[in-house]
Amino acid sequence: MGNLTDRYKDNVLFTTSENIMNWSRKSSLWPETFGIACCAIEMIAAGCARYDLDRFGVVFRASPRQSDVMIIAGTVTKKMAPIIRRLYDQMPEPRYVIAMGTCAISGGVYNTYSVVQGSDLFVPVDVNVAGCPPRPDALLHGIVLLQEKITKSRKQRKTDSLPQSPSMKEEV
Ligand code: SF4
Repeated sequence: MGNLTDRYKDNVLFTTSENIMNWSRKSSLWPETFGIACCAIEMIAAGCARYDLDRFGVVFRASPRQSDVMIIAGTVTKKMAPIIRRLYDQMPEPRYVIAMGTCAISGGVYNTYSVVQGSDLFVPVDVNVAGCPPRPDALLHGIVLLQEKITKSRKQRKTDSLPQSPSMKEEV
């Protein structure tokens, strides 16, 4: 900050509380620390020095209660699905889910009696990252897509408090 001190004149910025909250949320995504199968190795690589997820404010946390992102990295069996759902339920709102790899997206090649055919069958998935396994940079791209989604979200706004055009009122 030293080289910015006294560089600019006094300024006033106008924005909405929604924009500030979205900006802070997208800049500090904290995923849960857990991996299920081979895709988890790529997720771990994304967090290490070469890809360095910390640059995006993405810091893995050891507890679902401190996390707002779940990265489902691997094949989900029917035994595991209720446990993953419980972890999801323990995360505070707002929370987001990334399905990483074809197994997490659709069951992948494992169209068997024991494998769940898509994570969206038990948790709401925000972003799918395709690949078997997806490279770490593909996961980075998925995180950037999630950040864009958060930037555009309007969750804080009450729909009934929005100004309505006359035509909208008529429809109601
Ligand atoms: S998508 Fe491929 S790499 Fe990922 S868990 Fe499935 S089989 Fe393993």
